[in-house]
Amino acid sequence: MKFYAWEHADGMEIEVSLNEEPPKDGPWSSIYTFEAATWEEGMAIHFLRQGWNPYRPSGKAAECPTCKATYYPAGSGVCWRCGISPGEEDAGGGPHPSNA
Ligand SMILES: [Zn+2]
Repeated sequence: MKFYAWEHADGMEIEVSLNEEPPKDGPWSSIYTFEAATWEEGMAIHFLRQGWNPYRPSGKAAECPTCKATYYPAGSGVCWRCGISPGEEDAGGGPHPSNA
């Protein structure tokens, strides 16, 4: 998934979104974009680039029941390796929203 980081013209706010369009209450300018597999990975990259303390995902890490990779069920719930939330692969109806 692609992440878009924006800085508000007032210099006080930075927003990150998965949306190519800037937030509403602009003017905003794009400061960088990058790719990451999950929201948690994206936030970790963003925090590094901002020089902030390490990003702490919501909840505890768990093992993906499908592939055994680490994911955050209380956060995005998306496994970085599977690209979907474990257990949703048989739900049918096309790709998971996180892959859109
Ligand atoms: Zn997995």
